[in-house]
Amino acid sequence: MCASPLLAQFADVQPCPEDLQLGLDSITTEQIKSLVSVLAGPHFEGRGTGQKGYKKAAHWVAGKLAEYGVEPIYSDGSFFQSVPLQQKVPIIEECHIRAAGGVTIEADGNIGFDTYSSKPSVLGNLIFIRCPNERFKIPPSVILRDAIVIYWAEDSTLKYASQKIESHQPAALLRVVNGSPQSINQPTFATQVPMAIKGNISSTAVDRLLVGSGLQPIGEGAASPSEVEIMNPRSSVSLANPVRVRPIEVPNVIGVIPGSDPNLRHEHIVIGSHLDHIGITSGGTYRGADDNGSGCSAVLSIAKALMTNRKRPKRSVVFIFFAAEEIGLVGSNYYCQRPVLPLQDVTCMLNIDMVGRNESSAKETADENEGSIHLIGARQGGNTLHDVILDANEHIGFRFEFDEESIFDRSDQYNFYRKGVGSAFLFGGFHPDYHQQTDRIDRLNFKKIQAAARLYYLTVFAADEHGPFPVVFQPPKKIQPIQTRKRDN
Ligand SMILES: [Zn+2]
Repeated sequence: MCASPLLAQFADVQPCPEDLQLGLDSITTEQIKSLVSVLAGPHFEGRGTGQKGYKKAAHWVAGKLAEYGVEPIYSDGSFFQSVPLQQKVPIIEECHIRAAGGVTIEADGNIGFDTYSSKPSVLGNLIFIRCPNERFKIPPSVILRDAIVIYWAEDSTLKYASQKIESHQPAALLRVVNGSPQSINQPTFATQVPMAIKGNISSTAVDRLLVGSGLQPIGEGAASPSEVEIMNPRSSVSLANPVRVRPIEVPNVIGVIPGSDPNLRHEHIVIGSHLDHIGITSGGTYRGADDNGSGCSAVLSIAKALMTNRKRPKRSVVFIFFAAEEIGLVGSNYYCQRPVLPLQDVTCMLNIDMVGRNESSAKETADENEGSIHLIGARQGGNTLHDVILDANEHIGFRFEFDEESIFDRSDQYNFYRKGVGSAFLFGGFHPDYHQQTDRIDRLNFKKIQAAARLYYLTVFAADEHGPFPVVFQPPKKIQPIQTRKRDN
């Protein structure tokens, strides 16, 4: 990889202040690449909440912080704030489907569950749907609400098809797969809304259900139809899905670099990125290279840069790798409820989530977004962080976009903002691989991650000069775009 067009784009900038150069230079694309290759590599299996991969990743991140000389947040030497969650585990030997024609399908070996209802069993109309390999409509005459839907969909249309069916609020939706599906033991938390039972069912079991309903078996590996096919044998089935709830704990990983000024070091800047991603599901492993391997590699690089540089911020810098963001900002919410250091001493919160890709949508192409990034929330609630970050960017050269303000509440900074802490959210933008298994390392723009890390590295010093950034909470609103702040000369 050489001669990236980004080099030219980021070249026309103000030189870095001399006393910050050493740290800035330590943030290299090689380092970013090696960090994110581990974070989004096979070992951590997509860092799913409640899964082995997340725990391994948390230990690895803590090890990196220690290696750089960052101190653990707890005086007993621990980097981990344990976030309690509940995990639902199906009592698989009691799970089954009972259907017409005296057919009983035992779940063991035949059904793998991804999510569970709050009820131990559901009763509904049995409906089979064979999805075409393109967008489709459910005819209004077919009522899927509270039904038990069994559907066929190819990998390429799986997300679309399952969302389409789920939008009709069935009691359960099971995708037909070959072989014996396994259950995913999903973590939940108390306030989570009740959801449909979702999972996979083996094609041999489905053939028995079809035959029991007087329909033709379909068999393994049948090609998808050109149009949606819906089979409604007008028989009801019961699906028993009792679960056992067991407590689990997932850690926020937190380290601190103490400030150089004894009178100010109780105040601190928080730099955050969520460490979790989707992980292993019945559909496969979601590695989350951009979401949020990119942000975590940036935050680790900032920590290392601050330790490398001779000049340190006067205030402390606290690094938080949040747990369970993908299931509803759970780790950051927990931190803000039970902060390890007083929240009133947080001068600002700088969050990074997905900074490794070029935004790409129907309206703009990835090529147009080599050097662009979204700065979100930095003017909300009377915040002035926006100006400080724009000044720091004079040394970096991002083209900022301000058109994603509506997602300010969709990452961890929002929990800090709600508590009156001036916050900023750096975000590369959405792309077709967002929350797909194709969010992989080979599609990352390492130069952009490097630039994002350098931007926040410089922002830390600028924000430290400025002091606290208090805000008055109000629901986020559209902001006036200010593209660049011109210097006085
Ligand atoms: Zn994310």
